[in-house]
Amino acid sequence: MNSNLISKRNKLIENLKSQGINDEKVLEVIAEIPREDFIASYLAQQAYENAALPIESGQTISQPFIVAYMTQELQVTDKHKVLEVGTGSGYQAVVLAKLCKRLFTIERHMPLYKKAEEIFKKFRLYNITTLFGNGMKGWKEQAPFDRIMVTAAGVDIPDELLYQLKEGGIMIIPVGGQEETQHIIRATRHGDEFKIKTLLPVKFVPLLSGIVHSS
Ligand code: SAH
Repeated sequence: MNSNLISKRNKLIENLKSQGINDEKVLEVIAEIPREDFIASYLAQQAYENAALPIESGQTISQPFIVAYMTQELQVTDKHKVLEVGTGSGYQAVVLAKLCKRLFTIERHMPLYKKAEEIFKKFRLYNITTLFGNGMKGWKEQAPFDRIMVTAAGVDIPDELLYQLKEGGIMIIPVGGQEETQHIIRATRHGDEFKIKTLLPVKFVPLLSGIVHSS
């Protein structure tokens, strides 16, 4: 990695701290993951700008602040089994995999799913298991999960996902339509009840059902 990108990465970490990201482990993993590896080479110089960037299949890699914020709110430990819905570039998955015990991640676009699998191999992250499918249904065979993170905006919180949380488990999901203000929601399971907290306003691509075989 060239020194120019290293200095941009250090600046990004300072910027995240000044925006209230104070979980040392979250900052550490963001500081060690080369975000340029998850985007097209023509965008490499923008890898450490605090901005969402385009990836294949008309999707986006989230803004680093949002990745850091959602990860911090998820309160992940190395004992946790975590589900991510919306693998996309694989960047958020790598952040989570470095913090948890096992990460399961689902993507509905075949080209993104394949590319992410390659990148997880390259990073030698063998605690990640991938699935090509509709993540709105969760992953019944692997449930229950300590934590669930959805990285696409649902019009509401899918019930099937909520009920795949363990007791005391936490889910982070952006909620809202494409034409309205979306918010990050944190749902915590207490028996069959869920404590809901509304967090930051955000802008995410939509959580959609069905699968897409080509780009
Ligand atoms: N976490 C990703 C963010 C990618 S954008 C990253 O770090 O790059 C959100 C992703 O969610 C897109 O790739 C989109 O195809 C995917 N997605 C949307 N609805 C989905 C669904 N129902 N199941 C699985 N993936 C979904």
